[in-house]
Amino acid sequence: MPLVPVFDGHNDVLLRLWLKPGGDAAADFLNGDGKGHLDLPRMKAGGFAGGFFAIFAPAESEVLPDDDDVNPPLAGQISQPNALRKTLEMASLLFRIEAASAGRFKVCRTAAEIRACLAQGVTAAVFHIEGAEAIDEKFKVLDVLYESGLRSLGPVWSRPNVFGNGVPFRFPSTGNTGDGLTEAGRDLIRYCNERRILIDLSHLNEKGFWDAAKLSTAPLVATHSNAHAISASSRNLNDDQIKAVHDSGGVIGLNFATGFLREDGRWRSDTPLDIMLRHLDHLLRIAGEDCVALGSDFDGAKIPSAIGDAAGLPNLIAAMREKQYGEALVAKIAQGNWLNVLERTWG
Ligand code: ZN
Repeated sequence: MPLVPVFDGHNDVLLRLWLKPGGDAAADFLNGDGKGHLDLPRMKAGGFAGGFFAIFAPAESEVLPDDDDVNPPLAGQISQPNALRKTLEMASLLFRIEAASAGRFKVCRTAAEIRACLAQGVTAAVFHIEGAEAIDEKFKVLDVLYESGLRSLGPVWSRPNVFGNGVPFRFPSTGNTGDGLTEAGRDLIRYCNERRILIDLSHLNEKGFWDAAKLSTAPLVATHSNAHAISASSRNLNDDQIKAVHDSGGVIGLNFATGFLREDGRWRSDTPLDIMLRHLDHLLRIAGEDCVALGSDFDGAKIPSAIGDAAGLPNLIAAMREKQYGEALVAKIAQGNWLNVLERTWG
């Protein structure tokens, strides 16, 4: 059977490549370095046709959450100038990959461009910023980022910034994780609505989610989050939030991160694929067939070894078929729902 093309809601390969000491990060990606979860050869092998490429600026002495700690310390803060420098460096890397790819990889600014890439076998990338620390409260730099291709933005990552409170990683979580968006955060939602930049709600805490939901005129999107009813992580969505995404015509991308999948919140690569299908079933039951997609978190989290890396995506597709998901539904989850919501968000 031919590979099902997958358009994916979240990966951190740019951070992985940016953190690599020395060498040619663009060549490593295009030729395949076999590290982490993503590089072009493995993406091709698994049907990874495109997705959101996140840019995340780590703090100076970032202690990225220890995979085995379900309640890690809050992430470090970062100043705006520092975050902007790191963001521009990773964005440059994204464009260097495009330039060196000889037409195999394209940074897309419209849904039509993504559709054309998928039809031609060109890998489609969406320039996404995870946590808006690089952006000042007066939005003095945001237009440059937009003009260079930024089409998706998460106002906060899992640390507070001038725009609001990101949800700290907590398990189990009752959902009560502090204040939501600040006045600047509300301005940012309005700005993104105006420019038709997609607003990613995945890392907002619950109050911030509802602040954004009330204000935003765009479909509500959580690029990489799961069902709180199954895994009580602070990063997951409760049923009311899932309903709100549905009512807005939005999308939720299933996160492959084991700590957001498992009932015990542990980070374990020996997590069976079955739990991913349980999340999909739950999301489908509450939000319906048009609102559920994938948001792997490749290169950003410990994922089930049954997928392993991008080359293992067909194992997830096979698991959906075993669960009697029809081909039309598989295609919606794998890429159709993302394409559809991007079209409606970006115009
Ligand atoms: Zn994330």
